[in-house]
Amino acid sequence: MRLILSVALITLSISATSESAGLFDSLQKLTDPASKERQILSGSSQVLSSSKEIDYPTERTIGESLALEGLQRFGNPVKNEALQRYVNLVGNAVATNSKRATIPYQFAVLDSPVQNAFAVPGGVIFVSRALVSILEDEAELAAVLAHEVGHVSAKHALKSTQRAQFFEGVGTITAASVRGDKGKKFASAIGDMQAVLFDKGLDKDMEFEADLAAMETTYRTGYDPSAMIRVLEKLQKLEASSTNKKGSWFSTHPPLAERIARLQAQLQKYPDHSSLASVHDRFAKTAKVK
Ligand SMILES: [Zn+2]
Repeated sequence: MRLILSVALITLSISATSESAGLFDSLQKLTDPASKERQILSGSSQVLSSSKEIDYPTERTIGESLALEGLQRFGNPVKNEALQRYVNLVGNAVATNSKRATIPYQFAVLDSPVQNAFAVPGGVIFVSRALVSILEDEAELAAVLAHEVGHVSAKHALKSTQRAQFFEGVGTITAASVRGDKGKKFASAIGDMQAVLFDKGLDKDMEFEADLAAMETTYRTGYDPSAMIRVLEKLQKLEASSTNKKGSWFSTHPPLAERIARLQAQLQKYPDHSSLASVHDRFAKTAKVK
């Protein structure tokens, strides 16, 4: 697994934009077993010692482990520097207007044929080439990225895992078994989060929360918040004609009709929404290149 990851990382650093270079450096560090173990164990001991919120470096370390897994499953970043820079500009614009604006966010378009986007704890966010290819303007891209920023802001993946794994048996670790036991617990928590993020999906309520956050965040950034609805309607059309939904926004998210209905109700909060920006031309120029 490590070998495959290294190959992915080399390809990755070639296509890295200046904005995402820091991300790739830190992902590289994770391939050093010594540093990975040190960081992970210091993080896990903190998580396991109490139910208090974990600190940001620990969250980021967990997220980067999951990001590596995501690259393996969905593919490397698309080798198009202008596109990657553009997605980072739009992503950071919405992140700045999100509920959690103080952490660093990094975005990458992955070379995947499945319409998907996902966020790992700490602020690394991936969107697939296939999902970008069905979008028609910058507001729609902003909505997708803002949905993922919403998951990061609300720490949805971490909450899923803390509930599933960490709250059980926290007090039963003895001094003799501390190291090995904590290491194993951490590994199983990472595995649990992988299953949630890539296979099972988050709780329905978390998805609705991220949808509503996306609408609010795009609105505050100056985009027409109805873009989120337009994206979901596109996916709905696609879903009707698609046979393979595995790993896509269809399989890991609640039914699209329900998401759209909730967003349409929320749209009443923004009576001036159609006067806000959609930015079609810049998107077409930068994101529609092959
Ligand atoms: Zn989601």
